[in-house]
Amino acid sequence: MMEAERITTGTQPDHLFDHTPETLRSTLADYGEPGYRADQVLEWVYRHQVRGFDEMTNLSKALRQRLEDSFVLYEAEEVHQSRSPDGVVKYLLRWADGETTECVSIPADDRRTACISTQVGCPVQCSFCASGKEGVRRNLSSSQIVEQAMFVAHRAEGAGRLTNVVFMGMGEPLANYAATVSALRTINASWGMDIGARKITVSTIGLPTQIRRLAEERLQVTLALSLHAPTDELRRRLIPWAESVSIAELVEAARVYFDSTGREITLEYVLLADVNDQPEHARQLVGVARRMRSNVNLILYNPVDGLDYRRPSDRSAGAFLQLLREKGINAHLRTSRGLEVDGACGQLRRRMTPPP
Ligand code: SAH
Repeated sequence: MMEAERITTGTQPDHLFDHTPETLRSTLADYGEPGYRADQVLEWVYRHQVRGFDEMTNLSKALRQRLEDSFVLYEAEEVHQSRSPDGVVKYLLRWADGETTECVSIPADDRRTACISTQVGCPVQCSFCASGKEGVRRNLSSSQIVEQAMFVAHRAEGAGRLTNVVFMGMGEPLANYAATVSALRTINASWGMDIGARKITVSTIGLPTQIRRLAEERLQVTLALSLHAPTDELRRRLIPWAESVSIAELVEAARVYFDSTGREITLEYVLLADVNDQPEHARQLVGVARRMRSNVNLILYNPVDGLDYRRPSDRSAGAFLQLLREKGINAHLRTSRGLEVDGACGQLRRRMTPPP
């Protein structure tokens, strides 16, 4: 399908979620405003979670109007929402250029997690995943990444305050490195969303150079490595992108990450029936997990229309888990939540934009 070329004219709008107190102070100084105005604006945005500048009632009408004319606060339009009986709500957002991405609210007993996207589409193209079917269309900006977390924070819908943020939606966060790190800082900052680094997870297919860079950022976020296979041979069958990266290189980068952050690595492993869920795979996985400080997150596959992969039985997944535990690996089995809402990566977008 040919898409009409989009012609962009004029200057890029200034997105408030791209700002830090320093950059906002300097912008407002150009209006002749004192420095503390920036703090007031950020407090309205992140603490009081207002949706528009007109709600910032301790600012003059003239300033509110000026802000309104100069900045974009919330850019996206919600175009679809699906809710699952377990409380998971998945939203499809449309950005100003017409592209759409997904974000999800996942409530649990004592917390609520926002799962957010970093790109439109995905360059990784795991063979079992819905997100990368059409490749990557573009990066999201830092403000668009932050906006999703703020959007989900707003939508408490009785489910409580947002406590965790996971970069596990569409896209490969470390392939959009600068925007991801900038968004991480805003989500973590005390002037921003103020979510503790330990409550933030970045999930990656594993880009060793970027993992080392992230280790240097002084952000103690959890790194989740999408391993999915315990040998290079099998991993390359499931993840074409892995052709150029060996598990040995990932182990090395993960060790560097642990050494500089003190954060244990989460190894993600989607269980695919008869593909990577056999006892020999569990034994090989033990070998990989032992080479770094790690815990293993087993995820039951969420079937995707048109793909041949199947979810293993609870019994065989349980046996896989037990094998890891018997060898002393700290492992958990996650039932993917939100099955009813096309919960897995990229499924909602795919359903809403069927192929021509
Ligand atoms: N590109 C990043 C983040 C996006 S995917 C990464 O690869 O980690 C987030 C996680 O969801 C990954 O572990 C991915 O493998 C998993 N996932 C994708 N499709 C899935 C499906 N249909 N069922 C279960 N997990 C899936």
